[in-house]
Amino acid sequence: MSKLKTLNQLDAHGKTVLVRVDFNVPLDKGVITDDTRITRALPTIRCLVEQGAKVVLVSHLGRPKGCGFEEEFSLKPVACALSEKLGCDVRLSSEVTGPATLGLVQSLECGQVALLENVRFDSREKKNDATFASELASIADIYVNDAFGAAHRAHASTSGVANILPSYAGLLMQEEVETLQSILDSPKRPFVAILGGSKVSDKIKVIDSLIEKADVIVIGGAMCFTFLTAQGLSVGKSLVENDWASRADEMYKKAQERGVKFLLPVDVVVAEEISENADTSVVPVEDIPDDMMGLDIGPKTEEMYSKAILEAGSVFWNGPMGVFECSAFESGTKAIANAAAKTSGDVIVGGGDSVAAIKKFDVADKMTFVSTGGGASMEFIQGDVLAGVEPLYE
Ligand code: ADP
Ligand code: MG
Repeated sequence: MSKLKTLNQLDAHGKTVLVRVDFNVPLDKGVITDDTRITRALPTIRCLVEQGAKVVLVSHLGRPKGCGFEEEFSLKPVACALSEKLGCDVRLSSEVTGPATLGLVQSLECGQVALLENVRFDSREKKNDATFASELASIADIYVNDAFGAAHRAHASTSGVANILPSYAGLLMQEEVETLQSILDSPKRPFVAILGGSKVSDKIKVIDSLIEKADVIVIGGAMCFTFLTAQGLSVGKSLVENDWASRADEMYKKAQERGVKFLLPVDVVVAEEISENADTSVVPVEDIPDDMMGLDIGPKTEEMYSKAILEAGSVFWNGPMGVFECSAFESGTKAIANAAAKTSGDVIVGGGDSVAAIKKFDVADKMTFVSTGGGASMEFIQGDVLAGVEPLYE
């Protein structure tokens, strides 16, 4: 199997290193509400600083229009937070590439850190424009990619520049790729894959790929209703993707042929509407009323799923079991989160909302590994080669 080029193989002393990081943090009126992504990038930055490199960080933030500076998407708050965490001044360039950036980079001394302004201020970033990639490459000697969360995108700062400069995986990138690869290649058994969230269509390839690796597949969230529909049950007003019912049925059968246990809910929490004070009841999946929607797994299902997790050698979890954002429908996701926190098996969690859920239930630090990449971790698990990872292999 191919191996990543890592920071161990690098002597960056005196070199200018362009580091792609994922500083796409959530902001509320300019205040960072969750700094996980900054914290997770620190080991790589510190490692390069200790090597005596001149470190130039580049990241995107949100979705600016791509026609220059917009205050709302400026990396200013990130530069402040980062300066504080590193205990040194991180200077922010006023532009992405150009003379001011060049001046700033040339003024860096060994062990100093600078941050380029939001790379998506330049519309050429998302087009993976060759000239823009060369402009980025021209300010550095070496490229390090630590932005796993953006690695599924073939953009200039994630892919284009990696094909120009000598490229290495940062420590977070390395941990993400090695952890996800190891659960695919050599999971501790039994390997339990828990899949939930809103859409089967989003996750069909992930389920398909995991049927070939896992011992148990556990289905929750809205997607379970497409599977239940495929089995001939009527699911009332629950979210169903009818177009996908036959694919869902094929997958169920494929799992049975391979001897993979495929668990679907036996009971669900139903209500007429998604709201905090909705009237809820628990019904067996055979008895979902026509005018109600299934919005969470029921207590019998919670118990069955928790048992599978507690007996697991390893667990991969993506997608909440219900509308956990609403306390009336959070119980299923909370039960799974607690079982995942308690099991002696290894637990890997991926997916934006899934990570939000384990944070909400305060168990994120009990997981073996929490992926920083939502879309990227899904694409990795479904066996795709990620545009930002491929150039980092030996
Ligand atoms: P992730 O970001 O972890 O990959 P998804 O984006 O696929 O997860 O799905 C998360 C969303 O699914 C949540 O917003 C949640 O409210 C919703 N969801 C879960 N169960 C249901 C359900 N039964 N009906 C409607 N929406 C649901
Ligand atoms: Mg999501």
